[in-house]
Amino acid sequence: MRRDLRLRDNVALAEAARASDEVALAFVLDPALLRSERMGAPLVQAFFSALAALRAEVRERGSDLVLLEGDFAEQLTAFARRIGAGAIFYNEDYDPEARLRDKRVRAALEAVGIAVHASLDHVYFGADEVRTESGAPYKVFTPYKRHWLDQHALAPRLPVQSNRASAQKLLASAEIGATREVPTPEAYGHASSTAFPMCGEAEARARLDRFLALGGASDGYAVQRDIPALEGTSRLSPDLRAGTIGIRTCVARARAAMEGASSQRRASLDVWITELVWRDFYQQILRNFPHVARAPFVAETAAIPWRDDEAAFAAWCEARTGYPIVDAAMRQLNTTGWMHNRLRMIVASFLTKDLLLNWQWGERYFERHLADADLAQNNGGWQWAASTGTDAAPYFRIFNPVLQGQRFDPEGTFVRAMLPALRSVPTKYVHAPWQMPPLVQREAGCIVGEDYPAPIVDRAETKARVLAAFSAALGRREK
Ligand SMILES: Cc1cc2nc3c(=O)[nH]c(=O)nc-3n(C[C@H](O)[C@H](O)[C@H](O)COP(=O)(O)OP(=O)(O)OC[C@H]3O[C@@H](n4cnc5c(N)ncnc54)[C@H](O)[C@@H]3O)c2cc1C
Repeated sequence: MRRDLRLRDNVALAEAARASDEVALAFVLDPALLRSERMGAPLVQAFFSALAALRAEVRERGSDLVLLEGDFAEQLTAFARRIGAGAIFYNEDYDPEARLRDKRVRAALEAVGIAVHASLDHVYFGADEVRTESGAPYKVFTPYKRHWLDQHALAPRLPVQSNRASAQKLLASAEIGATREVPTPEAYGHASSTAFPMCGEAEARARLDRFLALGGASDGYAVQRDIPALEGTSRLSPDLRAGTIGIRTCVARARAAMEGASSQRRASLDVWITELVWRDFYQQILRNFPHVARAPFVAETAAIPWRDDEAAFAAWCEARTGYPIVDAAMRQLNTTGWMHNRLRMIVASFLTKDLLLNWQWGERYFERHLADADLAQNNGGWQWAASTGTDAAPYFRIFNPVLQGQRFDPEGTFVRAMLPALRSVPTKYVHAPWQMPPLVQREAGCIVGEDYPAPIVDRAETKARVLAAFSAALGRREK
């Protein structure tokens, strides 16, 4: 088990059950990875809670989820030998480091006569399945999506029956022997928090049910998905990351919910499926262009002279930019391990365009603070915002955080909830508090520069700065 911590709609588990009389489930804890720069507390907590939920369900069936710790190849070889396993089945991961590791583990297992079978599970269509007519990977989303939808209409991928297939085949816990308990995040140096998302298969399915129910968030998703003060989205991203729900299940359930639905609801469900297609799109980008993990997708954008301003970066991380929608978003990230999609776009634009800081700084920060941190989606989102990626926003399109706030949080409900200093600021000024006359500041109990920071940058200046930096790097004239 890896990023697929569930019994239902799990391709490798279905394959293992089809090919074998007996099946055992194992997960390897890699201390080096768990303690590495790439893993943050919310992601570790999401995975450990998903492991605990999976173990509880497997134990109810008289079996166990074996937790191993250490080097993957050594641990899996020893475990396979201990229970007399002839083959190992696993679901692929497109992360370049995971792929390197899998290659090494496969070689080690095969060298001692254990067969290794890889399946594709975490995406709806694989990286080589949706290609242009000439067989090349897509670099632009819209034609990719069109092709994806055509292919889906012709041959939808139904959820696989892994739960039923494996039900009678799970090895009894007595035959597996004692195994260690699910550790706490603290064991690997991470602080846990009740505010971070908890994952588990039953909870993920309940979340999907709630989202898709008539009267649930899916009804008005097309519009409400952009309003951070509302629970307007599914909140399934940590589950899709830990694999407590299958992507085929999500698509099939959304399609089924469309039948007989109103046109507004159908349109909303269409938009939601489009988001799942974005997820496949960025996954295939990572698999087909693995250099994006270390460098911009568009090579010439490597010449952009990003600034080396640690103080500005710290202000962004610590929600002290003086731009309420940016600070409220960063507060949401820092305290809950999740951030609304609209806000991710706003803070990413602010970091890369207004502060002219390298998108990789932001990508790394998100990686350590998101419960859904996923190299493919995170990298895709950051490179889109920084105008260095596939199908990126044109570099001269820069989000205005004041206008974005006024448009998507018109009453200031979200910023007030996240930033108590702004609680009594009149709505007129809530997205630009520095514009409050001194008397209004006193009445609102919010003195700019004391109770809430003054803006760290003047956007009129930063706009000229970023346009000059991009046009110099790309050798084009300013637009
Ligand atoms: C800078 C930036 C960084 C991001 N980093 C991540 C990340 O590390 N992990 C992650 O899962 N998503 C990431 N996203 C995409 C998106 O913000 C989240 O998937 C979404 O906010 C999750 O909330 P939800 O589950 O309620 O989404 P919903 O709106 O309910 O969407 C359903 C699912 O579709 C997928 N999805 C939605 N929006 C996108 C998108 N723009 N790109 C790709 N897939 C999408 C997700 O799997 C999501 O769970 C990032 C976006 C940006 C702009």
